[in-house]
Amino acid sequence: MKFNSLKSYNFPDSEGHFGPYGGSFVAETLFAALEKLDNDYAIAIKDDKFLDEFEKELKTFVGRPSPIFHARRWSEKIGGAQLFFKREDLNHTGAHKINNTIGQILLAKRTGKKRVIAETGAGQHGVATATVAARFGMECTVYMGATDVERQAQNVYRMKLLGAEVVPVNSGSKTLKDALNEAMRDWVTNVENTFYIIGTVAGPHPYPKLVRDFNSVVGKECKFQMQDLVGRNPDYIVACVGGGSNALGIFYDYIPCEEVELIGVEAAGKGLDTGKHSASLSAGKPGILHGTRTYLLQDVNGQVEETHSISAGLDYPGVGPEHAHLKDINRVRYVGASDREALASFHDCCRIEGIIPALETSHALAYATKLARELEKEKIVLVNLSGRGDKDMHTVSRYLSVDT
Ligand SMILES: *Cc1c(COP(=O)(O)O)cnc(C)c1O
Repeated sequence: MKFNSLKSYNFPDSEGHFGPYGGSFVAETLFAALEKLDNDYAIAIKDDKFLDEFEKELKTFVGRPSPIFHARRWSEKIGGAQLFFKREDLNHTGAHKINNTIGQILLAKRTGKKRVIAETGAGQHGVATATVAARFGMECTVYMGATDVERQAQNVYRMKLLGAEVVPVNSGSKTLKDALNEAMRDWVTNVENTFYIIGTVAGPHPYPKLVRDFNSVVGKECKFQMQDLVGRNPDYIVACVGGGSNALGIFYDYIPCEEVELIGVEAAGKGLDTGKHSASLSAGKPGILHGTRTYLLQDVNGQVEETHSISAGLDYPGVGPEHAHLKDINRVRYVGASDREALASFHDCCRIEGIIPALETSHALAYATKLARELEKEKIVLVNLSGRGDKDMHTVSRYLSVDT
């Protein structure tokens, strides 16, 4: 453990490195745009006007602060530690993603951009981006794999209602990573008038940093709220990890708090030994994808592998570079939860607490409840309830008819 250095945890460095991860592996044209973005961002976050507007939008448009809920019934049933939920599912548009898109659209506005673009997998980030584009009167184009366009018809319709153009991407596996490539291509061509809103703590510097910072409002609120509720920090914080933005959002301010154990839960899909999962940190190796160096699921030739998860939002072969670093320095422990475990917790959460969680979030719940079972009643496990499950009705009903 290298905990001593965490008191002064200060990553990334000026070039976007988190230890050996991160950086900026992009074409010349984008390099200049990224450097400018880094500068613009550094100035913006020292400007009270920018910070005040961010705070005001989070309060009046998103509905922050989100509450913390003591899941008393589920804790009693388990008979172990006390479960608390940070209710990001109550945010406008139903998940944590809106925190970051608000931050980025304010940067877009500040730098005079009139058009925003985004990539999306399940469509959640696309909806969050289309929402803020409408809110600030900007043109919006969302790239989405053709397979996902079919699978996620409702979110496509939502984005169109909000005035966005949705472009189906027909290359590669026609999913998220192909949509990301296409969005990058658009950005290279239109960098003068276009702001690229990335949906998680991945991509080239400075995106992993700025997405983390905008989402870190989650952990900042928790620190105050847990103090009010129980008078101390939680013993454990558990969050699901796709690209890793909701996890870093709640972890970040707790990194120097050594008494708080941080746990990231990846999608173990049908099992880590089946090859059908999306657990980049547990089963991947370092490599370069989408402009950053991080853990990736790749075959022996370094080709990026197809992933599987019941939750589209965790279905990505990479992960944010800061998570790779936090894993290597042993500050965050990364574990997996399978499709089956996530589904079981999804149902428990609905019936015991009256909350329909997102399938992504259900992975965090699966591990948190397993952990709570082994702990004393005085221990506190705080789960980031990253989103609501309304979007998952189709998937859940399909799995149910297969399983029963
Ligand atoms: C998108 C999404 C995730 C996964 O993305 P992260 O960047 O890992 O947070 C998790 N939960 C919900 C509800 C999502 O919509």
